Amino acid sequence: MAASLTGPKRASSKQIFINLLTHSGLDRVARMFFPPIIPVFLLHRFEKPGVNVSGHDPNFVDEALTRLKKKGFTFISLDEAVQLKVVELERFRKLVAFTIDDGFADQIEIAAQIFSAHSCPLTCFVITDFLDGLSWPWDAKISWICNNVQMPCMNITLGKHKLELTFQTDEDCRTSSRVLRTIIKASLPMQAETLVESVIAQAGVEVPRSAPSGYEAIEWKRARELESPLIQYGAHSRTHQLLSSLNDEESEEEIAGSRRRLLEEVLNPSNVFCYPVGRFVDFTEREKALARKHGFVGAVSAEPGYFVKGKTAQDLFSLPRFGFPSNMADLLQCCTWVEYMKSRVFG
Ligand SMILES: [Zn+2]
Repeated sequence: MAASLTGPKRASSKQIFINLLTHSGLDRVARMFFPPIIPVFLLHRFEKPGVNVSGHDPNFVDEALTRLKKKGFTFISLDEAVQLKVVELERFRKLVAFTIDDGFADQIEIAAQIFSAHSCPLTCFVITDFLDGLSWPWDAKISWICNNVQMPCMNITLGKHKLELTFQTDEDCRTSSRVLRTIIKASLPMQAETLVESVIAQAGVEVPRSAPSGYEAIEWKRARELESPLIQYGAHSRTHQLLSSLNDEESEEEIAGSRRRLLEEVLNPSNVFCYPVGRFVDFTEREKALARKHGFVGAVSAEPGYFVKGKTAQDLFSLPRFGFPSNMADLLQCCTWVEYMKSRVFG
């Protein structure tokens, strides 16, 4: 989510204000003064009964797509968005694209149903070793540990942080998981793996080698069944390690290996790569060059921002995405000139 957006508490009054600002007449006038832009959204997991993970509300995602259609938006795929950014982007055409990261089974099942019902393209970025059953993502392990630790609370030392975490309710577990993941993500990429190992050791739990119930990857066979002109898969590395922390060979294998597996398993994979975690510190010029070398036409980060036509400084291998908002006002704000103007004025 863009740091400049306000939280859900103010959504209702903000909703009225944003509705006024995004009114079609005003929106058209505003678009005369700004370069053509495409917002691309990043989704993660969905809320699901019986699985204690933070996630999107499927009903809200459904409402959001309905609302965007009513506002005159055209849904395009990520690959189309990258191509349009380069060759042709019309000033008054309202475009938006969607992606979802990691490749959990429930995530893709729910998303495919919602997005297909709206004839909305969706690029599903998958961690290929996860789908191959060779590993599962470190951030999912942290969530699983917090849901399965056999103590009501725990004092834990993580680098310079001394934490007292509680695990008495589902909400406690989600909060503790979020705290740990935030600290690990805020560490230097090369320290992240060590911190994950430290959490596992201090929690005193044995983490399953393959993804346990509630954390399973989609199977390749099912992925192929869901693949369509709307539902496309993309490479999100082999193991979801932070690429900038790896040596040259390891980083290349994460990028080339994940593309290779997608080409082997699905019919029409995206030609856009997605960096694991995706902050600017998580990839370097080396990863951009490797993605280009292995046939990708672009790569997306998880830093907020727009695809902007003609912005020469905007590297095709460091394209931004907005986190999918949890309320309509923030969604509409990101989809229109309002957020673009704010980002230009306030940085
Ligand atoms: Zn990811």
